[in-house]
Amino acid sequence: MNINDLVRYWGRNRPDHDAIIFGDTAVTWRELDAISDALARGLAKRGVRHGDRVGILMTNKPEVAALMLATVKLGAICAPLNFRLKGNELATLIEDADPKVVVADGDLVGLLEEAGRSREFEIFALGGEDLPPYSDLLVEDGPVPVADVAGDDPAFICYTSGTTGVQKGALLTHAGILSVGQSACLAHGLTGKDRVLAAAPLVYTGSGISVFMQFVVYPGSTMVLLEEFDPERALDILEKYQVTATTMVPVIWERMMTLPRFGEARLAEFSFAGAGGAPVRLDLLEAFRSRGIPLTQVYGLTEASGLAASMRYEDAVSRPGFAGLPLLGTDIRIAAAEGGFAGPDEVGEILVKGPHVMKGYWRRPEETAETVVDGWLRTGDVGLQDGQGFLKLIDRSKDMLISGGLNVYPAEIERVLAGVEGVAELAVIGVPDEQWGEVPMVVLRCDGDQEEVLSRLAAVSKEQLAGFKQPRHAIVSDEPLPRTFSGKLSKVVLRERYDKVPEHAVPLK
Ligand code: ATP
Repeated sequence: MNINDLVRYWGRNRPDHDAIIFGDTAVTWRELDAISDALARGLAKRGVRHGDRVGILMTNKPEVAALMLATVKLGAICAPLNFRLKGNELATLIEDADPKVVVADGDLVGLLEEAGRSREFEIFALGGEDLPPYSDLLVEDGPVPVADVAGDDPAFICYTSGTTGVQKGALLTHAGILSVGQSACLAHGLTGKDRVLAAAPLVYTGSGISVFMQFVVYPGSTMVLLEEFDPERALDILEKYQVTATTMVPVIWERMMTLPRFGEARLAEFSFAGAGGAPVRLDLLEAFRSRGIPLTQVYGLTEASGLAASMRYEDAVSRPGFAGLPLLGTDIRIAAAEGGFAGPDEVGEILVKGPHVMKGYWRRPEETAETVVDGWLRTGDVGLQDGQGFLKLIDRSKDMLISGGLNVYPAEIERVLAGVEGVAELAVIGVPDEQWGEVPMVVLRCDGDQEEVLSRLAAVSKEQLAGFKQPRHAIVSDEPLPRTFSGKLSKVVLRERYDKVPEHAVPLK
């Protein structure tokens, strides 16, 4: 089975069922299948063949979904491009992906020009001037384009979000993406009846492509697509369309939780509400649960087609802080420091094996060989598994600091301190220290009186954290803390900003 068979199947078997709802527009499965056929004919006419790359530089709209499907119908590889990048950043991705065609929103074409043309490719613009329009790609007549697509063929090049440095393109295959669809739908009971909110840009991996491919294309459900995320609007949409499933990064859930109207919204019964991609605070899960939304933690990464473990609601309640059991068909182990696998409750790097592990990084054989070893994906995340195999995330190995010879995981400290009254945002990084090598430092934005918040932080830290984990310094920022495009705290930026303890830091201990 490949993605194309499924789209064709829903086009025939669920023709009048809505595939996408976007504002006042609804696109049925028959229409989505037909539009993606027309686009596939147009792309083929422009010379796009099996294995070629098609770049998509567009904000959310049904055309993005149709273009993704058209590309993979040809056996070509879809390269979703982040429209929030700057020209020079985009240039690196385009140079790497080397697309034959890029389809862009008219007002993003300038960005493409800024990126320069280190590669030859054709541009089609939706709503722009002086360029071949998107409508040129819609070729209504002609044979239905069918490429011979194997499960192992790549469908997407997904660039890692760059939280930790160089952007590498993970090649995700048809079979890998569908295997996550199958396992996630089995685990959470998603069916064609679900209405799935896609609140993040579709060109993002975990909260975009995964949501569309695995929760919409796989079960033949309906995607309710937001043009851009806004907490008020998202809550309205959840109510209006009685949305029953979604997965988003925690900060997006957090922003909805703080709306004054959150408590009264009349929401549908959810099949699946996932939060993942970054550490998930327990108070967030509890706030949603008290509203009857079964919010649970999930764990995944781009290189594993977006998802590797998820938590049943019942288990989430009895095991707070855990991120779940491996998906069906997925094996998760913890690497032991001395080689081999660690035993229950031992901490080490999380390894993932399964059909959804990427085929490799595009044109990077060395990085691929370092990252996928004997079929095991080295995630760069640190965690443990309990005796029943439930996974607990501790932190990214790159974020760990060593204080007096002891490993300190900032995420563990953040979990304790982020819920302190008056803390609006909080991150922990390591800073150099003469005595201990490194010590944790808190960077925070306050919601109340700064002095009071800091004294509460110091008290909670003393009460709940071992001495070597207690932050020594605090920086109070008036600005929002730096985040990646998908809403994760950007430790790389913070570490660059504070490579030593700045003079305006306040002692915390
Ligand atoms: P880059 O690979 O460039 O650093 P990124 O890691 O943010 O970017 P993604 O693939 O989007 O790229 O994110 C996956 C990462 O998100 C995981 O490796 C893990 O560190 C983090 N993550 C995912 N789920 C959870 C979770 N439930 N709790 C804590 N962290 C999580």
